[in-house]
Amino acid sequence: MMTAYPIGTPGQAWGDAEKAQWLARQRRQRSHADEVLSTIERLRARFDVVQYGTLEYPPDSYPLFALKSKDWREENPIALITGGVHGYETSGVQGALRFAQLHAAAYADRANLIIVPCVSPWGYERIHRWNALALDPNRSFRENSPAPESAALMRFVAPFRERVLLHVDLHETTDTDETEFRPALAARDGVPFEPEGIPDGFYLCADSENPQPEFQRAVIDAVAKVTHIAPADAKGEIIGSPMVAPGVIEYALKQLGLCPGITAARYTTTTEVYPDSPRATPEQCNAAQVAAACAALDYALAHA
Ligand SMILES: [Zn+2]
Repeated sequence: MMTAYPIGTPGQAWGDAEKAQWLARQRRQRSHADEVLSTIERLRARFDVVQYGTLEYPPDSYPLFALKSKDWREENPIALITGGVHGYETSGVQGALRFAQLHAAAYADRANLIIVPCVSPWGYERIHRWNALALDPNRSFRENSPAPESAALMRFVAPFRERVLLHVDLHETTDTDETEFRPALAARDGVPFEPEGIPDGFYLCADSENPQPEFQRAVIDAVAKVTHIAPADAKGEIIGSPMVAPGVIEYALKQLGLCPGITAARYTTTTEVYPDSPRATPEQCNAAQVAAACAALDYALAHA
């Protein structure tokens, strides 16, 4: 039997007191400056580093950075790669940085790259899915967003959103989704927690309004060379959604306020790496994110 989440009253949504109680339990466990900003500093020679905002959670303050291709060419399409929308999803952040370090140069003459390695630095440090307001940034990409992480990214992309060809958003699905984050979400909203299980392997979320199945398949084929792809469960689903092709499910991105809905890109996908598999190392997870980004770019540029 599931024990109740330690904050709040079952059946009642949290108010400010419960959110404050939750916040008081969150501890800084790693350093955005050491693990993210230091790498961004080293990339200054090769990218235009743009600070697109500052995240203020007093006493903490975090600069928000994007890496832009230095040799920007107006005639080329824009490709957007985002990581760390969920701060705890380490390989999303480190995979985006690794792509910038090792692979971005290979696309310099064909695409204008914008890489946002860590959308949610407060969550990166606390290894948490939510921001300090107990909001999920990846359900908050909407007009007048209450999540400052989401609002800042939307403001940043607004001037060029129509010119984006590709957006890859790098995520993970972890065991802590089932043990901590979904129980917390159910408790926050005052609804029962329904376990869904955690798929063992990599999968993609496509946009149900614009699924681009051939594009998704190209990404899955590339990642399968690096790490295993999640199978469907007994119901033919991955994490509660029908598997529409090997390793692919669909969400209504814009309706749900998900990150890859922030531009008008023809090609969008969300990667979901599974770092807790006995068959996957952190190194493999970072490599899977990079393989996904490269395959997505290769496909999008070949079909632009
Ligand atoms: Zn995520």
